[in-house]
Amino acid sequence: MRTFPLRIGTPDGLHFEGDVERVVCRSISGDMAILAGHCNFCTALGMGEAYIVLEDGTRRQAACIGGMISMIDGTCRLMATTWEWKEDIDAERAENAKKRAEEVLEKAGLTDREYKLAEAKLRRALIRLSVKE
Ligand code: ATP
Repeated sequence: MRTFPLRIGTPDGLHFEGDVERVVCRSISGDMAILAGHCNFCTALGMGEAYIVLEDGTRRQAACIGGMISMIDGTCRLMATTWEWKEDIDAERAENAKKRAEEVLEKAGLTDREYKLAEAKLRRALIRLSVKE
């Protein structure tokens, strides 16, 4: 299968650079896959599970939270707000974040902002736990 160059970065640094057969992630409008030959485009990322498939068929999974992805002249760049490879996810930390978010969401009288922040934190934790499974 044809490959294409991919770079994955976050504000913390470069997480991947190399040739891949496929990158699958969640954009703001739904799950998407990019293969070699994809037309030029750019979109914002949502929160979700992501994976790449290397030339030898190896599949690497990750939790991807926000950012943007572009494919320009055959080169794909994924700049995420946070990106954790499956092996780097700390499940205990995600469990604790999930519990804290659930505790907040159980409280009465939350402001809209407090509710949205806790809900987003819960979603991030659930994605990390799901990727880690
Ligand atoms: P926490 O309350 O545990 O910090 P969070 O969802 O608020 O969770 P983020 O703000 O999304 O955390 O991420 C902050 C940084 O910590 C990012 O660099 C992210 O990649 C990393 N990170 C967050 N949770 C985990 C985890 N469970 N395992 C590994 N890295 C994590």
